Amino acid sequence: MDFDLTAEQRRWRDVARDYAEGQIRPRAAQLDRERRFPYDVIADLARLGLMGLTLPPEYGGSGGDFIAYSLVIEELSRADTSVGITVEAHTTLGCSPIAAYGTEAQKRRFLAPCASGERLWAFGLTEENAGTDAGGTETTAELRDGRWVIDGAKKYITNSGTDVTAGVTVMARTGSRPDGRPELSAILVPQDTPGYTRGERFQFLGWRASDTHPLSFRACAVPEDHLLGEQGAGFRQFLAPLDAGRVAVAALSVGLAQACFEAALAHAKRRRQFGRAIAEFQAIQFKLADMATEIELARTMVLKAAWLKDQGRPYSREASMAKVFASETAKRAADQAVQIHGGAGFLEESDVARYWRQVKINEIGEGTSEINRQVIARSLLQEP
Ligand SMILES: Cc1cc2nc3c(=O)[nH]c(=O)nc-3n(C[C@H](O)[C@H](O)[C@H](O)COP(=O)(O)OP(=O)(O)OC[C@H]3O[C@@H](n4cnc5c(N)ncnc54)[C@H](O)[C@@H]3O)c2cc1C
Repeated sequence: MDFDLTAEQRRWRDVARDYAEGQIRPRAAQLDRERRFPYDVIADLARLGLMGLTLPPEYGGSGGDFIAYSLVIEELSRADTSVGITVEAHTTLGCSPIAAYGTEAQKRRFLAPCASGERLWAFGLTEENAGTDAGGTETTAELRDGRWVIDGAKKYITNSGTDVTAGVTVMARTGSRPDGRPELSAILVPQDTPGYTRGERFQFLGWRASDTHPLSFRACAVPEDHLLGEQGAGFRQFLAPLDAGRVAVAALSVGLAQACFEAALAHAKRRRQFGRAIAEFQAIQFKLADMATEIELARTMVLKAAWLKDQGRPYSREASMAKVFASETAKRAADQAVQIHGGAGFLEESDVARYWRQVKINEIGEGTSEINRQVIARSLLQEP
């Protein structure tokens, strides 16, 4: 075994760490308070090659591996999870399916401007009645006179309404299977397509500097060649990016947990009670020890899942394990960070109060903890 990162992986991590420490962390609280999407940060990340890290260089990506990408998501999220999720939703959910299943023409037209990070691409799966049960998709797409005509609505779609968003991949019913279940297909919808509109940005508990909207499609027609991959393969095609997304959200969780730990450690050394630093009390030391131990384990799980993906090996179970453990590690870390801060941690403007608000979504987005536990259990039960 080799636990060392390659020089290339270290380089990407350090690029992200330097930028996040210098340019993102100092502004994270303000961006959160103002609920402002950080266009300048995204433009800088694009220049640094971090908006398309795993995407192919021939279309403007950086051609990095998934371990490097996981390290970058951790570093960005350690400074601000809003930035982490913006990069993650764009790279893993928005762009990687186009890289994997797109035709040459689709890659040139849709992937190239997005892999460079100049534009963003969104992924539209969730609906009012189709959340965890994505197979319950009600949005339809009908092929009429050489065009896919889309009708329906999507909910909670990240990066769908920024000034630099180029479009969204929409999961729609294109028919029925012989067993009566819906046939789902993925269709690329550019932002300016008539009949495609976006509702007001959602106001969330966390990720407040990210951009998430409801989408509406009314007789929204796109050319037939905007179908991504095979007709009817939509669901299968999206399982792969969802696995990758779970590893990335686990990396995001590790970054947030690390930020919680660092804030808690600094406060414990600074704050004095009973004539000494509270870090000298064993009750506080054990909290710090547990946080550090769990973070170490969560990070190792993320890197192992990322390594399996880079090797082309199956990693679905490890992705779900990393997602469940890292998101719950981050929740415990945020809780203990507030506890170690005492009343100061309950102040609206404190960093750890923001972390505590932000952490919950990690157990929900890209597969809830319940559904990830089902994925793990199913794989265990299938073993001979
Ligand atoms: C900030 C944010 C950003 C998002 N970005 C995107 C995006 O870019 N694109 C996109 O397509 N979606 C996005 N989503 C949607 C997200 O993936 C869903 O919210 C998530 O999958 C859960 O779906 P739901 O909210 O409908 O919850 P539900 O499916 O209604 O689940 C409610 C509860 O029931 C549980 N549950 C459901 N079914 C089962 C079951 N079979 N067994 C046990 N428990 C079950 C769930 O685990 C959960 O605890 C985003 C959501 C948020 C909040």
